[in-house]
Amino acid sequence: MSERNIAIAGGGAAGFFAAIACAELAPQARITIFEATAHPLAKVSVSGGGRCNVTHACFEPRDLVKRYPRGHRELLGAFHRWQPRDTVAWFSQRGVELKTEPDGRMFPVTDSSQTIVDCLKAAAEHAGVQLRLRCGLVSAARIQSGGFEIRATTGEPVHADALLLATGGNRSSAGYDIAANLGHTVVPPVPSLFTFNVADPRIQDLAGISVADAVASVPELRLSERGPVLVTHWGLSGPGILRLSAWGARELHSREYRFPLWLNWAGGRSLEEVRAELAAQRVVHPKKHVSGSPILAIPQRLWERLVTAAGVKPDVIWTSMPNSAVNALADQITAGEYAVTGKSMNKDEFVTCGGVRLSDVDFKTMQSRICPGLFFAGEVLDIDGVTGGFNFQAAWTTGRLAGQGMAGFSL
Ligand SMILES: Cc1cc2nc3c(=O)[nH]c(=O)nc-3n(C[C@H](O)[C@H](O)[C@H](O)COP(=O)(O)OP(=O)(O)OC[C@H]3O[C@@H](n4cnc5c(N)ncnc54)[C@H](O)[C@@H]3O)c2cc1C
Repeated sequence: MSERNIAIAGGGAAGFFAAIACAELAPQARITIFEATAHPLAKVSVSGGGRCNVTHACFEPRDLVKRYPRGHRELLGAFHRWQPRDTVAWFSQRGVELKTEPDGRMFPVTDSSQTIVDCLKAAAEHAGVQLRLRCGLVSAARIQSGGFEIRATTGEPVHADALLLATGGNRSSAGYDIAANLGHTVVPPVPSLFTFNVADPRIQDLAGISVADAVASVPELRLSERGPVLVTHWGLSGPGILRLSAWGARELHSREYRFPLWLNWAGGRSLEEVRAELAAQRVVHPKKHVSGSPILAIPQRLWERLVTAAGVKPDVIWTSMPNSAVNALADQITAGEYAVTGKSMNKDEFVTCGGVRLSDVDFKTMQSRICPGLFFAGEVLDIDGVTGGFNFQAAWTTGRLAGQGMAGFSL
C-alpha cells in the first residue's frame, strides 16, 4: 500500500473512523479527508444534546441488528467484525471511557461530545491523516488504468487510488451524485426519526407530559412500538414515536405524513384488562371523583382529558359511573385514535432513510461491487437505526471496515 493516495470524502464520524483505521493499518499510504465545510465532526459535536450518544450497550449482533429499519441484514456480518464492544474498547484505548445509562445508551463519562471530537481529531492527526477543510468533492471519474480523477470545490484535480464516500445522509448530497455517476443505485432519501404533528383536544396544552409505557400503532401499516410517549407543543414525540417514525419512514412519507395513529396509554394492556382495572376502582374508591383518580400511572392532566373524551362529567364519582362510560373510558385508554397531519424535526437526532443501495456494496470490505476502489461508509448508505446510539455505531462499524478494506486494497 506504499505511496498510495486514499481520498476520503466527508469528515464525519464514518470518514474519521475509516481514515484512522486505514492510516494505522497502512502507515505508508497518504490519506486525506476532504471535508466540504469548515467544521469536521459537526454532527458529533451536536449529537445527543451535546453529550454524544456514542453507541448502545447491546453486544449481541443478532439483537443489535433489530434496531435498524434499513440495513439489518447487511449489518449482521459487519457487527460480527466490529460491534459496540469494539467501539467501547477503541475509545478506552485512547483514554475516553464510556458509561451506560439505564436504557442502554452509552455516553462519554465527561457527558461532553467534545471529548469524542477531540479524541477522533487527535487519533487522526497521530496516524498522519491529512485534513482538508472547505474542500468538498464535486465529481469523481474512474480511470482506465485504476484509481480516480477527483474534482474538489477548490478546483484542483486530485488523483486517488482508492476513494471512500462518507458524505453522510444529507438529502441533496454530492456524495449521492458521485455514487450514481459511478453506476450505483441511490434509494431516494427521505427523513427518519421525526415527531408527529397532532392537533387534538386530548393533548392540547399538555406539552411536557409523558407516559413511560405506551404503545403507538399505525394499524394500516402494521406498525407498532412500545415505549415512552411525550406530548409536545405540536403533537407527539418520545422514543416510542421516534421508533415508529423510523420503521415507517418510507410509508409515512408516501402518505405525506397524514395517517391515523392509535395510542394505548396503558402499556399495551387489553381492553378487558383496563375494564377490570376501572371496575376495581369502583370498589376501592367508590366515592372518589373519576376525574381525580387516574389509573396505571397515567398523568393526572392527561387522565382528565381522557375522562372528558369518554363523556364523563368532572363531578362523576366511581360508583355512579355507568357501564357505557366505563367502556368508553377503557376505549380512550387502550385505543384512542389521533389524526397525524404532518411531521416535525426531532431536535435531538434525525437521520436519513435511503442512500446507496446496499446490494451494490460488499459488506466485508465496504467496497463497491460495481466500481473497484470505491468504498462507502456511514449514512450515505441506505442504513439507518432507531434512536439510542445505533446510528453512530453503524458509522463506526462501516467506517472501520472501509478503513481496513482500503488498507488491504490493491489495484
Ligand atoms: C442533531 C443530531 C443529533 C444526533 N445525535 C446522535 C446520537 O447521539 N447518537 C447517534 O448514534 N446518532 C446521532 N445522530 C445521527 C448521527 O449523527 C449520524 O448518523 C452520523 O453522524 C452519520 O455519520 P456520517 O459520517 O455518515 O455522516 P455525517 O456525520 O453527516 O458526516 C458527513 C460529512 O461529510 C461532509 N460532506 C458532505 N458532502 C461532502 C462532499 N461532497 N465532499 C466532502 N465532504 C462532504 C459533511 O459536511 C459532513 O461533515 C444525530 C444526528 C443529528 C442531526
